[in-house]
Amino acid sequence: SPTIGVFALQGDVREHLHTLTNLGTIAIPVRRETELARCDGFIIPGGESTTMYKLARTFELFEPLRQRIREGMPTFGTCAGMIMLADHVIDGTKDQETLGGLDITVRRNAFGRQVDSFEGDLDFADFPDKVHAIFIRAPWVEQVGPGVEVLAQIDDGPATGRIVAVREGHVMATSFHPEVGGDDRIHRQFVDLVSTKS
Ligand code: GLN
Repeated sequence: SPTIGVFALQGDVREHLHTLTNLGTIAIPVRRETELARCDGFIIPGGESTTMYKLARTFELFEPLRQRIREGMPTFGTCAGMIMLADHVIDGTKDQETLGGLDITVRRNAFGRQVDSFEGDLDFADFPDKVHAIFIRAPWVEQVGPGVEVLAQIDDGPATGRIVAVREGHVMATSFHPEVGGDDRIHRQFVDLVSTKS
């Protein structure tokens, strides 16, 4: 079974490790380059994207990670993880850096103060049944490049049409938190992606 690393310097690491372990993969928390070297695939959790890039720089994980993603390591980001994988960020902090990998522009904290956190059921790409999505100070995807596949969009309320899940080749991301709430279908899809690549 594949080894899948979870960026473990910041964020909701345990939930991802738990879901990945239940799916029969070898799930490891990753804080340093030697651990990254063992990974066939990688997840960047929800958390705080500005703290994440700073810690990744401090622990000298930023460049190695960026390199692995560029070389084709299947990578999945949730919420702050989506921001980390976006090529462009709106409303980031002044010097905010991202790893990139997805030809998208995300808006941080896009849903605004009134609706800081909310839940909803979304149609998701090829799944026959809706996905229960939990959003916590979530970004949305404001622009996608030509190679990016849209997997889910908000389908009611003021944010109708906003893109909240994408995939581009070996990189995928959701604005919401599939690691919370017990629905493992998106993780399963990611594990399949890792398995076909390794
Ligand atoms: N608002 C956070 C950020 O900008 C993301 C929130 C989350 O991951 N739940 O990084």
